[in-house]
Amino acid sequence: MTASPAEAQVKDPLAPIAGALFREMGVDGVYARSALYEGVIEKLTAFITSHRDPSAEVLRFPPVMSRKQLEKSGYLDSFPNLLGCVCALHGTEAQIRGAAERYKTGGDWTTSLAAADLVLSPAACYPVYPMVAARGAVPAGGLIFDVAADCFRREPSRSLDRLQSFRMREYVRIGTPEEIRAFRDGWMNRAKGFADQLGLPYALDVASDPFFGRVGQMMAVSQVQNALKFELLIPYYPGAKPTACMSFNYHQDHFGEVWGLHTESREHAHTGCVAFGMDRLAVAMFANHGVDLARWPASVRRALAL
Ligand code: AMP
Ligand code: ZN
Repeated sequence: MTASPAEAQVKDPLAPIAGALFREMGVDGVYARSALYEGVIEKLTAFITSHRDPSAEVLRFPPVMSRKQLEKSGYLDSFPNLLGCVCALHGTEAQIRGAAERYKTGGDWTTSLAAADLVLSPAACYPVYPMVAARGAVPAGGLIFDVAADCFRREPSRSLDRLQSFRMREYVRIGTPEEIRAFRDGWMNRAKGFADQLGLPYALDVASDPFFGRVGQMMAVSQVQNALKFELLIPYYPGAKPTACMSFNYHQDHFGEVWGLHTESREHAHTGCVAFGMDRLAVAMFANHGVDLARWPASVRRALAL
């Protein structure tokens, strides 16, 4: 016998907090956020900013980016199943009107859609690399960026930690292999202190991206073997399968090669990024500490200036 929706709700340990954080918008994994929730997102954002390198260049990206740039970045090799592409009605007034009219008569207007030159950004850092490449050689000492974007990944789920539309903040480093490794190792250490200050249980572990298909499985194995990705994993409740709330990524010279990004000594620049899943971190806070901020541990309230 399958559980009724009401029973399934009761069995989901996160169901009791969902009502305080989110409002349904008619699609799984796409939610309106409450003032309580956004307040904590703002505090987490400020907390992350307080650890920003003073030399970082700050850029805030819109939720869409150039389709050509993402194609060139290799996204279609790795995660074609997750990509959302902007489509629009093109053509003459009569063609567009004809497509829209089909909707009224119960037909399918979407068959007239054609891809626009935009995709929904699947991660915050993709637009940085072509932008930097266009500026010329990466100066000695490298570069660091603070970027953020609303991201989209086509992975519908009822689970509060798997959204289709979510916020990502990233610190991005561009430079020599040594500079990237030092940056990433430094952030992996700092992240443990973050989790401690936020009162969150955690594990830091090597990880792989969910590359698409059978070839993807091989890419994932090689990513683990080369220790290119680590994640900060946080359980939302005792016994829960931990959720990846931050990732620490070393892309080697992938973006250097794709975009002709090079150092002053004409070598391909290496890149890496530290990604904060803002929504996953915020849900982790509520899941672990409850929805009454006054009852959060004093040390956590202090860390977030609540
Ligand atoms: P990734 O590029 O996959 O390492 O993603 C960076 C961070 O974004 C992850 O560590 C998560 O915290 C967050 N993230 C990724 N996918 C989702 C999702 N479907 N819903 C919410 N947050 C996500
Ligand atoms: Zn990134």
